[in-house]
Amino acid sequence: MHADSAFVEMSSYEPVALWYNGCAVSPKMRTTAAEPHLTKNYRLIYDLVREQGAGTHLSVAQVYQLAKARRPGIGATTVYRGLARLRDLGLVFEIDLPGAESAYFEPAGSAHAHFRCERCGKVEDIAYVLAPSVVEELARERGAEISEVSLTLQGRCAACKGRRA
Ligand SMILES: [Zn+2]
Ligand SMILES: [Zn+2]
Repeated sequence: MHADSAFVEMSSYEPVALWYNGCAVSPKMRTTAAEPHLTKNYRLIYDLVREQGAGTHLSVAQVYQLAKARRPGIGATTVYRGLARLRDLGLVFEIDLPGAESAYFEPAGSAHAHFRCERCGKVEDIAYVLAPSVVEELARERGAEISEVSLTLQGRCAACKGRRA
């Protein structure tokens, strides 16, 4: 799943939204009035991502493993397409992190930043958002329009901090 394609689809879906690691900054943009109809497979994928709960970040491969355990006949392409569809519907968030091998998916929720451990690759949520007023000010200074903000901190997690390699 390529970051650029995600961005283009998201901005055509909600042109004025500020996106924060795939999360819309304004909470009213995240509410879905009626849950859209999902195919049986897409519903399964949605349930799997939701069951993991907030704070978990799954790669496409991990979602596929979970899906296969639940429904052995499901194909990798279906899982891939399902995640893209759910992302476009705003039901799951896709996050691209610097240094990570693949995109991650998490249940839709409040905007937040991420911490990624460069040693073990663990990804954690950080309850922090750049204030929309700050983003607006930065855009104004440049005469630019900012369509997406993503904040990732990188370093070593508590478990990896003291280790050599
Ligand atoms: Zn670590
Ligand atoms: Zn997250």
